[in-house]
Amino acid sequence: MHIVVLAGGVGGARFLRGLLDAVPDAEVTAVVNTGDDVTMYGLRICPDLDTVMYTLGDGIDEERGWGQRGETWTVKEQLAAYGAEPTWFGLGDRDLATHLVRTRMLGAGHPLSEVTAFLAQRWQPGVRLLPMSDQRVETHVVVDDPATGGERTLHFQEWWVRHRAALDARRFVQVGVDDARPGPGVVEALATADAVLLAPSNPVVSIGTVLGVPGVRDALRAASGRVVGVSPIVSGAALRGMADRCLPVLGVEVSAEGVGRHYGARSTGGVLDAWLVHTGDTAAVPGVDVRSVPLLMSDPAATRALAQAALDAALPGSAR
Ligand code: GDP
Ligand code: CA
Repeated sequence: MHIVVLAGGVGGARFLRGLLDAVPDAEVTAVVNTGDDVTMYGLRICPDLDTVMYTLGDGIDEERGWGQRGETWTVKEQLAAYGAEPTWFGLGDRDLATHLVRTRMLGAGHPLSEVTAFLAQRWQPGVRLLPMSDQRVETHVVVDDPATGGERTLHFQEWWVRHRAALDARRFVQVGVDDARPGPGVVEALATADAVLLAPSNPVVSIGTVLGVPGVRDALRAASGRVVGVSPIVSGAALRGMADRCLPVLGVEVSAEGVGRHYGARSTGGVLDAWLVHTGDTAAVPGVDVRSVPLLMSDPAATRALAQAALDAALPGSAR
């Protein structure tokens, strides 16, 4: 069985862990958002790829949800002692090794997909880890600029991490998307997968960014396997995080129904065949098989059960 999962960082990583737990023998391809990628101090940082890699490679800091367990912060402290900017980004000592290797390989001309495969040799995530694209696509956020009365644009990481998404966003821009193509293997994986799952990741700046790469949405729409999405919104709120700051920017209601309708049914030009909402939530999404199951990834058993429910919706009647 071959399963493709579209994923962002923390929500995507946890869901993937549950999936591997539910079906250890399945071949799983993770297509991961790279719109959060950023260059700091000359280093190329891929937060969502690293979160997935560390989580599945049993190296994640579970409390924080990102970065490595046992992290130390000497370099960050030393940079701060120089007053070097930016100070708001968590650059851990252990994490730095990943960024150094990645940056050097990219500089030597290796595409991100190759670099990611190389890094994954160490972490053995148990999935095929594919960046959504080898081309740079960076999410930027357009906000009000009180100084001029106009607007200004900042990198998504600065908006998210430094400002905690507190600045009202006018719109998101995918810088570079026009020249981007799906990463090697992405379209092929979608075409041949028995099931395609949209992790409970941020629908705007994680899944939305992946779907924005020219060719990905079409590949998903043409996939022969069923496409099942898992709502990241439970009881009208984003769990852990600030996804509720992103949806209104697109005019999407912060609810399981709002996100489900935003994704839409494959039969009506959207991407979903089935949509999982949390027990007690309801969602009317025309053309979509909506099921309510527990969606809280609070412990390994619950996370495994969620992944299993997504598979059940994707492979109806399958003996597995
Ligand atoms: P990020 O890139 O680290 O922000 O992570 P993702 O985009 O993969 O996922 C973030 C989203 O995961 C948040 O918007 C939450 O709504 C969602 N999320 C986090 N924990 C859970 C959970 O236990 N269940 C569900 N259904 N969604 C969750
Ligand atoms: Ca992210």
